[in-house]
Amino acid sequence: MTDKGMSEEGMSEEATTEVVTRFAPSPTGLMHLGNVRTALLNWLYARKLGGRFLLRFEDTDASRSEAEFVEALKQDLLWLGLDWDGDALFQSKHAGQHREALDALAEKGLAYRCFCTETQLNLDRKLATSRGLPPRYSGKCRRLSNEESLQRSESESFVWRLAIHNVNGEVRVSDALRGNVVFARRDLDDPVVVRSDGTFTFLLPNAIDDAVDGITHALRGDDHLTNSAYQVWLLEALGLSVPTYVHHGLLLGEDGAKLSKRTGSHSVAELREDGLIPQALVQAMTRLGHPNIADDALSTADLLQAFDAEHILRSSVKWSNDEMWRWHTRLLHHLDADALLPLIKTSVPAANLDFAKLIAGNLERADDALQYTRLVDAEVALNEEAQAVVDAAAEGFYTTALQLWQGSTDTGWKPWMNAVKEATGCKGKNLFMPLRVALTGVVHGPEMSAVVDFLGKEGVSARLQDLLDS
Ligand code: GLU
Repeated sequence: MTDKGMSEEGMSEEATTEVVTRFAPSPTGLMHLGNVRTALLNWLYARKLGGRFLLRFEDTDASRSEAEFVEALKQDLLWLGLDWDGDALFQSKHAGQHREALDALAEKGLAYRCFCTETQLNLDRKLATSRGLPPRYSGKCRRLSNEESLQRSESESFVWRLAIHNVNGEVRVSDALRGNVVFARRDLDDPVVVRSDGTFTFLLPNAIDDAVDGITHALRGDDHLTNSAYQVWLLEALGLSVPTYVHHGLLLGEDGAKLSKRTGSHSVAELREDGLIPQALVQAMTRLGHPNIADDALSTADLLQAFDAEHILRSSVKWSNDEMWRWHTRLLHHLDADALLPLIKTSVPAANLDFAKLIAGNLERADDALQYTRLVDAEVALNEEAQAVVDAAAEGFYTTALQLWQGSTDTGWKPWMNAVKEATGCKGKNLFMPLRVALTGVVHGPEMSAVVDFLGKEGVSARLQDLLDS
């Protein structure tokens, strides 16, 4: 089906024409991971080649499009650092051009009204299948004269179809990854472009807008490949420019099923609420199918440098949430305290810079900070595990520890620990664990000497006193 060599042509074109890509979501829901992949690839492609990246809301389905999703999608893109050029575009603003395109096609006899009822279509499909034929539209209404079509349209419900199916001829989709993908017109259907309620399906407005917006490269999932054939045919019929398509493999879940809202993929909003560092999502997503990107390419600039448009995979790729969270942890450990603090503050509002510095190395996720709240709040209740350690401490342990702490002029961890050891006879775990829990609220965490330095004279006393009071 493919004939190689197109990508070379594609490349020479890129050298002379500014690349323009777009992300074209329908504002009918929140951004999910599949959208992120498409948006990211279009963004990377444009930015890598010094081109422009446009944002276009495909809002022609007025009944399902909502302004709140427009805002949410914009916010998610910005959060991910995927900035677009110019103002966001709205497909509904081009309604006049869509209508004109349909009229022009109808005039040439390339679009026609179809009056077949759903019952008739189902019957035809069944008949075709029983004969071992593909369930395509029979072409019945294509044979109607203009007069009859017009006349029936006054009293009957109808859709508009494109007259693509033909025993002869072919449609060539120029795909930067696959070369020319050639469709025989005998294998293509006559797709519906206007529904019986008068609204356009995705095919025509999407193709017309690409031409109007000057899109040179459309990167999208390979589930659109047949749509591209319809759209190339349509654009060529109207003498409009056809973008080079880049059909990337689909994003699958770990179970191998298509990752989508319906199959439980996370929305970007959910991930943001979970405290994810946006760059972790960008890292994990960019690296899918890009094994050549060095491990230490940690910034977006590094990723762009390493991104190779020819590396985008034609085969499907599997998403891993674990991998994304591993990147989160890695990036978290690379953040300086100033950048880390706002992330920590979402779960521990009382956090300060020194607290961020103290616990940075112990975090896998930013909200792990929550378990160290006792470091900034002396009276926070202990969890079950910590309480069990406190309960198991030797009789009078905390009284002695507090007296020794308050009576000493040396406020370091080591001398205090040695003094407690000598006075109580406790050692090893029985010595440091009750102290760790008293001060931090958890059984593991930063070095105790750093904890003691952070809390200071007052801080350590307050936490021991809290336990004695409780
Ligand atoms: N609105 C279409 C979608 O969300 C756009 C597809 C495309 O990228 O052309 O699937």
